[in-house]
Amino acid sequence: MPVDTKDIFAIVEKQNQWRGRECINLIASENTPSPAVRSIQLNDFMGRYAEGHPNVGAKINRYYQGTQYIDQIETMAAKEVRELFHCAQAEVRPYSGNNANTAIALGYLRGGDALIVNSTDAGGHISHSFFGVMGRRIQTRGQVLKAGKENSVRLQFFPLTEDHYHIDVAQTIDLIEKFKPQMLVMGKSLYLFPDPVKEIAPICKQLEIPILYDGAHVLGLIAGGQFHDPLTEGATWLTGSTHKTFPGPQRGIILGNLDPENEKNYWGAADRGVFPGTSSNHHLYSLPALLVAVREMKAHGKAYAARICKNAVALAQALDACGVPVEAKEFGYTRSHQIAVNVFAFGGGVRAALALEANDIICNYNMLPGDSDPMNPSGLRIGTPEMTRFGMKEKDFAVLGELIAAAIKGQQVKDKVNQLRGQFLEMEYV
Ligand SMILES: *Cc1c(COP(=O)(O)O)cnc(C)c1O
Repeated sequence: MPVDTKDIFAIVEKQNQWRGRECINLIASENTPSPAVRSIQLNDFMGRYAEGHPNVGAKINRYYQGTQYIDQIETMAAKEVRELFHCAQAEVRPYSGNNANTAIALGYLRGGDALIVNSTDAGGHISHSFFGVMGRRIQTRGQVLKAGKENSVRLQFFPLTEDHYHIDVAQTIDLIEKFKPQMLVMGKSLYLFPDPVKEIAPICKQLEIPILYDGAHVLGLIAGGQFHDPLTEGATWLTGSTHKTFPGPQRGIILGNLDPENEKNYWGAADRGVFPGTSSNHHLYSLPALLVAVREMKAHGKAYAARICKNAVALAQALDACGVPVEAKEFGYTRSHQIAVNVFAFGGGVRAALALEANDIICNYNMLPGDSDPMNPSGLRIGTPEMTRFGMKEKDFAVLGELIAAAIKGQQVKDKVNQLRGQFLEMEYV
């Protein structure tokens, strides 16, 4: 008797139809990979192992036999990633962004170290803070690091300017000089304006403090030259997810632009952190898909990333015009793929996100500066990468802005949302 799996396939088909063809997806951390990136993932590499590096001149060779084809793919992927990001080192084995950060933390940090990171209410990722990998890595046995606890001074947050959307450079330099942390973690999840790597890097270089730049969200914008380039500005490692603004398979990446002298300390830590630190098999089946996405971004990344950013501003303007305030208006709303919408006056973020979901518009509630309760945030985080990929332009995002405003105010607009989505089913930039 064949195993009955019809019900499982039916659920997956419903997801494909609903999220793939009916919903307007505005989750800032999500994207839809191209048909080629999807289809190439069904392959024999699924279930295989290839620990170590391809043995083409590298010190550490593979620990498994039968790897000649993944050796070719991994070598090509690392080379073409270096070309795309104009950098000297590329580690393509991490299987997610958090895994890439974990590899650096494990490879470089030790219990008792000190860090400066972005706080979660300023948009920092939860993994950078007390309960995430960074906080846990620097605790010693028996310690629990927690905001306000005395021993927790070893994890400090970047001081912010009054608007709360920018790091205060002068105060940060002061803090670095006094506090002398082992590492800085820059980059965020609610990420509207570039962190000041260029301004902070010189003091870090002088004190030999490495900067981990977590570019999970903005990796595709960096590849397309539409956001600042943290490696050129002096970051030690650039980590990222390859499935957010970078429209590839769900994996991670570590990039470096180190000279050989620093390579030993910093790149060696990354290498050992990835393997054997945090992975054994590296989900080989999706590495060819990453290479496909890298080629797509080489060809179309600039145009795609530029359009993403323009669309984000267009959506912010449309919402504002409909009486739904968007944060950071005085700075032009955003320089990235995201906007932060203030829905405090409409019952808060949870209520607004659920109202939108009921109308097939998908996004997530988010804390805004000044919020203290993560379960009652006053904002929505909205991103344009996926719908941009399906061909929506500024005028289309203006129409979408009106639908979002109407849904937040309690109107039923599901049919109109489905109709709008129906006009954008063909993927561009592939
Ligand atoms: C999404 C995100 C991550 C986690 O990435 P995964 O690829 O899902 O593991 C890490 N850092 C930041 C800043 C993020 O926004």
